[in-house]
Amino acid sequence: MKSNKVIFKVKNLSKSYPGNENHYTLKDINLNITQGSTIALIGESGSGKSTFLNILSGLEPPTRGEVKFNNVSMWNSTEKERALIRRNELAIIFQSFNLINSLTVWQNIGFHARLSGKWDRYLAEQLIETAGLKNLLNRYPDQISGGEQQRVAILRAIMAKPKVLFADEPTGNLDDQNSKVVIKMLLDMINSIGATLLVATHSKAFASKLDIKLKLKDGKLKS
Ligand code: ADP
Ligand code: MG
Repeated sequence: MKSNKVIFKVKNLSKSYPGNENHYTLKDINLNITQGSTIALIGESGSGKSTFLNILSGLEPPTRGEVKFNNVSMWNSTEKERALIRRNELAIIFQSFNLINSLTVWQNIGFHARLSGKWDRYLAEQLIETAGLKNLLNRYPDQISGGEQQRVAILRAIMAKPKVLFADEPTGNLDDQNSKVVIKMLLDMINSIGATLLVATHSKAFASKLDIKLKLKDGKLKS
């Protein structure tokens, strides 16, 4: 559901890495993300897209500045509070899928939803049908293709019914045909649960389908 409600507020966010403290990957970034919006984060390799996603999703601390999720300061919270926000409100899809290799497709799909108490068998069956994964449920990640693995990762994320979904180059390891399928599926599913989407991508086709395009260059965000 799109609304004017600000779900992420980024204030004067800067990031430098130890050993290279004078070089800022992100410089004084300010951004409000409204609920239900879909945002493409573009920029050259090394421009800081992953760093930015990792700080917003609570994986990596900023050097300075603040990230507020629903008015809660993520990086002034305890590790435990941040873990709860991540588990209950956020989901992440990676370029390299990051499925759990010791679990079947079916178990992977339910993994995060079960952790956050949002498991819904009916929804799972519907999504599996839509994603064309019905015949692969008992297989393990190394027994399915890259395109199929990414569809499993998307279902796992959507099943957790996140408020915000982060995706870091989700089609970066896929060929054109698989990219098309994954982009359509991701957007349809995001729409159906009304989540906010922030995706780092090099795909112009993908970016053109989203509400907002933001470009990272020299540590700054430009729209
Ligand atoms: P992108 O995702 O746009 O390719 P990254 O966010 O991965 O860019 O990287 C941005 C910059 O930050 C690069 O110059 C990279 O070398 C640096 N960087 C990223 N992670 C680390 C790290 N853990 N330690 C040191 N430098 C890092
Ligand atoms: Mg990256």
